[in-house]
Amino acid sequence: MKRIFISDLHLDANRKDLTRAFTRFLSEHCQTINELYILGDFFELWLGDDDQSPLNNEVIESLSSLSCDVFIMHGNRDFLIGQAFCNAAGAKLLPDPYPIILGDQPALLMHGDSLCTRDEEYMKARTQLRSDAFQQDFLSKQMQERKIIAEQIRGKSQKVSREKAEDIMDVTPEEVTKVMNQAKTSILVHGHTHRPAVHEVDLQFGPGTRYVLGDWHTSTQFLRATDSDLELVKYVF
Ligand code: MN
Repeated sequence: MKRIFISDLHLDANRKDLTRAFTRFLSEHCQTINELYILGDFFELWLGDDDQSPLNNEVIESLSSLSCDVFIMHGNRDFLIGQAFCNAAGAKLLPDPYPIILGDQPALLMHGDSLCTRDEEYMKARTQLRSDAFQQDFLSKQMQERKIIAEQIRGKSQKVSREKAEDIMDVTPEEVTKVMNQAKTSILVHGHTHRPAVHEVDLQFGPGTRYVLGDWHTSTQFLRATDSDLELVKYVF
């Protein structure tokens, strides 16, 4: 079983180089794998599955032409990705967290934002934005209005982020340990923080490992998994 895990591409109509890098990545790395996992923030912004932009159509085209299985998890920027998009792209939408077996070890897949519990303001906003009430109301609006609201929310969060301490923006170590102990998993794979690395974690039942995927800027680090090996691999574009 060969799998690849990526996250935080932040695909954007204004960054055509990113879409090209993604398409090239699919042809260079995903032709002989069994499963591709996209663990959130695939898109910089998702206004709804009914937003038939050229970018969204291009991505649907590339994903649906893959021969491997494709799995998508929501990130904090594209949590409105729905069943219609996934059906069109031939992808399966995963809940966050999502347990799988890697090699012969139980592993947990997450986007990672829910691990940043020290950012109380964000956690509060997260609950609100993920509520059915907000989502139904948002998706009932005209596309132009959704864009304005999304930009307002983003503007606010960027301004706030600049003022926050560095460690608040990273995962809370105690939350990582708690989540891994509860799930009885020795492997955690997540993105979101844009701090690609492999971390050792002390768990109740022994040592664990946390793999953090990279964001896509001019390069990224993705996780390649075979039945016997897990490796963060650099992809430069
Ligand atoms: Mn994120």
